[in-house]
Amino acid sequence: MNHLHACPQCDALHTDVDLQAGESAVCGQCASVLDKASSLTVSGWLALVLGAIILFLSANIAPVVHITLQGHRISPNFPEAIALSWQQGHHSLAIMGGLLGVVFPLLMLLYRLWALLVIRSGRLPLDFSLGLRVLGILQHWSLVPVVFLAMIVALVKFAGLAQVTPAYGLWAYAVLMLVYTSASRLSVQKLWNMAAEKGMVIASAPMSSDDFIGCSACGLVQTPDEDAPCLRCNATLHKRKPDMQNRAWAFLITAMLLYVPANILPIMVLTTPMGSSAHTILGGVIELWESGSADLALIVFTASIVVPFTKFVALVVLLCGAHRWKGRVVQRQRTRIYELVEFIGQWSMLDVFVVLLLGAMGNFPGLSQIIPGSAALSFGLVVVLTMLSALSFDPRVGWDARTAQQRSVKAIRENSDLKVE
Ligand SMILES: [Zn+2]
Ligand SMILES: [Zn+2]
Repeated sequence: MNHLHACPQCDALHTDVDLQAGESAVCGQCASVLDKASSLTVSGWLALVLGAIILFLSANIAPVVHITLQGHRISPNFPEAIALSWQQGHHSLAIMGGLLGVVFPLLMLLYRLWALLVIRSGRLPLDFSLGLRVLGILQHWSLVPVVFLAMIVALVKFAGLAQVTPAYGLWAYAVLMLVYTSASRLSVQKLWNMAAEKGMVIASAPMSSDDFIGCSACGLVQTPDEDAPCLRCNATLHKRKPDMQNRAWAFLITAMLLYVPANILPIMVLTTPMGSSAHTILGGVIELWESGSADLALIVFTASIVVPFTKFVALVVLLCGAHRWKGRVVQRQRTRIYELVEFIGQWSMLDVFVVLLLGAMGNFPGLSQIIPGSAALSFGLVVVLTMLSALSFDPRVGWDARTAQQRSVKAIRENSDLKVE
């Protein structure tokens, strides 16, 4: 029997298709990519995740740069940068940077390792579904590639102030970013499918009516049954994300309000024997531009100013027309906008990590000191709140707005056949 899958973006039902390595299954209704086949076996994934963990540890223990200023030399790494901002009293900023840049990525790799070991052993522990649910949450909040980009920006910004030499940690981070991105393709859904293939959990549920609900935690399609939890993973089932409009608007409006101090207040304060100077986000971009790093100035401008603003506009557009049906083409475009918002979400955290890193790189007591300004926390909160707003939004609601005729079995059959690309 073919297993059923409900598209997470539009809720169209699909049956399994056999994919060759490198092929993708694309939803016939909303055109989002449902699955990308990989040639890796359980052991292959294990090797990849183990490699990522070793790289992650060495990249965070080794110094990222050696900095020499007037005979003094320091060699900071990323965890030291976070510890320093904690010592300077910026506790919330240190917690935010530490969780998103170090703790969550490491936990995410460890959870994947554990799930793969469980699947390889063939014996299911009681907390398997709880572990995978935690992994499902963590995967939105682990920002390794952003930390690496922040290292490059911090390095270039600091190059004019002191003698800066890249160290082992930076190269390890560069390799880690590639391995980590590959390991991130091992989604929670893939892990459930692997366990189902080995017969450790059920692969499909008996369907007793035409109505169905796809579990947001494990993907199992099943017949809704009052308040009963998911048959496979025990998660609470929701046909659609609860209280979408209220939650998404609340997060979004708070983010918009915080965006004002984030841009007006200084994001960092540089103190030297000559005096101290405060720098705003836009000021930092202009400094990068004037110092001859036009490409980095553009990257920081995009990540810190264009991306948050685009997210605001996109979320307002999505939320305002969420329950209106304007045809398949428009609804597909709206689905693409939502995927874009999800994809770019994390990149605006760049400036927060840059400030944390600069704090450690410029820490020469008596000679120079870089301290995060009050905008750093506001800006970090803007990013977190817009990500929460996007996570509260349910893209399936737009497809629900079709008329009964457009939703008929015939129309769905025409629209929802899987395409293999
Ligand atoms: Zn779809
Ligand atoms: Zn489930």
